[in-house]
Amino acid sequence: MSVLVVGSLALDDIETPAEKRTGVLGGSAVYFSAAASLLDHVRMVGVVGDDFPEHALADLEKKGVDTRGVMKRPGRTFHWSGRYHENPNDRDTLETVLGVFAEFEPQLPAEYADSEMVFLANIDPGLQLKVLDMMDSPGFVALDTMNYWIEGKPGALEKVLERVDTLLINDSEAELLSRRIGLPAAAREIRSMGPKTVVIKLGKHGALVFREDDLFYAPGLPMDDVKDPTGAGDSFAGGFVAALSLLGYKDNDNYRRAAIIGSAAASFTIQGFGVEALMAADRDDLAGRAERFVDLSRIPMPILPVK
Ligand code: AMP
Repeated sequence: MSVLVVGSLALDDIETPAEKRTGVLGGSAVYFSAAASLLDHVRMVGVVGDDFPEHALADLEKKGVDTRGVMKRPGRTFHWSGRYHENPNDRDTLETVLGVFAEFEPQLPAEYADSEMVFLANIDPGLQLKVLDMMDSPGFVALDTMNYWIEGKPGALEKVLERVDTLLINDSEAELLSRRIGLPAAAREIRSMGPKTVVIKLGKHGALVFREDDLFYAPGLPMDDVKDPTGAGDSFAGGFVAALSLLGYKDNDNYRRAAIIGSAAASFTIQGFGVEALMAADRDDLAGRAERFVDLSRIPMPILPVK
């Protein structure tokens, strides 16, 4: 199968307590594709400016990412700059320069329209709707969004949510979108808006998957060598959607497996700046990392002696 992603391709400036880097390859579609390509073919839709390095798309192509859907336009590539605090869950956005992304009108190469799996990364919900309208009839649609769109484009977001199978969203944004306090209540309310599955991202603490009567927790793998947390959420999404593509998106158990694969993919991303560590990993590395989660939460039974 093939997974289609629409989102940003970016050149980021990233500052952590230990290091500062400029012009780092990033963007939601890049992190997603780097992770998803460990398990499946990826079709990428986005836009870059004339400052975008040629080799970046060639490197993604080598990983099995079809980049024919990435348009090149005169101007600057989308640029985001952020600073992390000691706690990697705390970051300040210092600057966002839309550049060629400001005029972005997604166009799908004709051969992308039959994609079975779709990930609509965090972009204007109006554009997310347009992408769905250009597709034949995808079997599975996942979507990411943020407070900017929840507050700024609630109507379009509501419409697109009706057509989505899985929403990936962080904890505070889940409460904002649902106007509910507490994650179970927020997930219940969001599921009444359309998505059957709600994945609530908890930053370095992992993610909760709410699906039908099932609640599953995929922890973040505790790592000693965190270099740059940027893109962990999009990498989680890439691992998650590609795993569902490989295993099947109808079986409830596969959502648990997919969440572990998502967490494993994110654990590579944070070990390097931008996508460098994730791009250096292969499918066996991902499978090996995923197995570490089994021991992480295996409980010897019985938990208490039987009375
Ligand atoms: P994450 O750490 O998962 O939130 O992803 C960070 C990536 O998202 C960075 O590479 C940014 O370039 C990109 N990004 C940040 N803000 C936006 C935005 N408003 N729209 C699209 N992409 C963004």
